[in-house]
Amino acid sequence: MMRQRSDGIRPEGGRATLSLDLDNEWSYLKTHGDSGWDAFPSYLDVAVPRFLSLFDELQLRVTVFVVGQDAAIDRNAESLQAIARAGHEIGNHSFAHEPWLHLYTDQEIEQEITMAEEAITRATGKRPVGFRGPGYALSGQVLNVLARKGYQFDASTLPSVLGPVARAYYFMTSGMNRKERQKRKILFGSWKDGLRPIDPYLWQVNGSTLLEIPVTTIPGLRVPFHVSYLIYLSRFSIAFAKTYLRTTLRLCKLTGTEPSVLLHPLDLLGKDDFSNLGFFPGMDLVASRKRVLVEGFLREIKKHFTIMPLGEYAGQVRDRRRLPLKQFSA
Ligand SMILES: [Zn+2]
Repeated sequence: MMRQRSDGIRPEGGRATLSLDLDNEWSYLKTHGDSGWDAFPSYLDVAVPRFLSLFDELQLRVTVFVVGQDAAIDRNAESLQAIARAGHEIGNHSFAHEPWLHLYTDQEIEQEITMAEEAITRATGKRPVGFRGPGYALSGQVLNVLARKGYQFDASTLPSVLGPVARAYYFMTSGMNRKERQKRKILFGSWKDGLRPIDPYLWQVNGSTLLEIPVTTIPGLRVPFHVSYLIYLSRFSIAFAKTYLRTTLRLCKLTGTEPSVLLHPLDLLGKDDFSNLGFFPGMDLVASRKRVLVEGFLREIKKHFTIMPLGEYAGQVRDRRRLPLKQFSA
């Protein structure tokens, strides 16, 4: 639906959502099987101000998915409070950020989500409105707990057939043994996730429902649409990365898909900030270069879509649309 906005910019298309998964330095080291993660090294004091200034400049409100463990550590408090003060939505990104969350017992899952919720609420003064599983981990019990606790949405599915390919790359660059790999078997999603819907739908959970807002992958092609991926493509050709983004946005419009776009802290951190995350694609660029790229990508999306946080979008979608119902199966 077209509408005129007070700032005179008329978005050509519909809505898009933007979220930032606040994965911290320690959680990357942990997932990658590197030592030193258990001292919980943090770059939030560097990354968060950069994101807040970018969002402020572009007048964007987003959902920030916070990891409970970070919220429980005093030295992160100021960064997390600044996010809430700037008016962004707060989401729950689990407590321990273990992508094998779906392998926990029912009781452990309940505890994981509750502990994260309590720590995040205490640190930010805001109760999380939605959940995103670490590494897109999801299970029936996760959905049960979220529905019971009155969460507005889950945003843990990544319907991409490239998930298993990304996982293979990850394993290749790490020195993990078989057992470690087994735990990370569905990191970045399983083949089956690749076939899940791209548009929002309702999970049927114990007599109630929970809205699912999938992370958008390109309609028809089902390849990822993360800002990190665009940065990665820009390493080969900036023109190609921009064309890729424009084509994706056009495909979204043609198919009526309202894109859910993802940011990660490393999108604004560069090799001049850290040397120990070199295994990440795009970490060979300096931060100032990445900032220019990311700003360009976000401006392009803003040209075509009205960007909003996921919780705000959840309210609008539930009110206005008849959504398909789905049963969870692992
Ligand atoms: Zn994460």
